[in-house]
Amino acid sequence: MSGSRLRPADPGQQRTLRQAALCYAAHGWPVVPAAFFDGTRYACVQADCVQDGPHPVWRLWQGRASTDADVVASWYRLFSFAVALPTGVIFDVVEIPEPAAVRVQDALVEHRTPTPIAVWRERGVRLFWVTPGLQPDNRLGALNARIRGEGAWVPAPPTPTRRGPMHWSLPPEQSEWAILSHADLTAALDALN
Ligand SMILES: [Zn+2]
Repeated sequence: MSGSRLRPADPGQQRTLRQAALCYAAHGWPVVPAAFFDGTRYACVQADCVQDGPHPVWRLWQGRASTDADVVASWYRLFSFAVALPTGVIFDVVEIPEPAAVRVQDALVEHRTPTPIAVWRERGVRLFWVTPGLQPDNRLGALNARIRGEGAWVPAPPTPTRRGPMHWSLPPEQSEWAILSHADLTAALDALN
């Protein structure tokens, strides 16, 4: 990969992203390096890339996602990369627009069925981690929710974006890295009515 433009402007930020990637990998979540927002644009390893948003740095990234600490550390040693997590492997992710997302999160907390929830302010959505294989249904449709499953990915905290870094609204530690079941998601969505 070429990429003097991927050199870190801020070594502290690079360290934070590397530590986050290693932490996800250590908990069994495969990691892929993602384009780094440098304050102006999303820089990746492809010179002709025109994607204006977080995205994996390789076009063919599926086979390269890893939980191996040495592999992950080597990616983040020299370059500023953000963090993407493949979906449909260990978890699916449901993208729910604000403000409904806040109500869903409140219902999950109230039911004591926490799950990792990330805020993606650039898109005005929250990301809910659920077990893989989730199917669209009327409840999710009514919220304009979008399921990211097999073959997709999500940007993970603290990936920098045009509107500030991705951040956890409910960090994985809070659910001890457990992922929400489909039944518990349904119960929370039913509680909204
Ligand atoms: Zn790119």
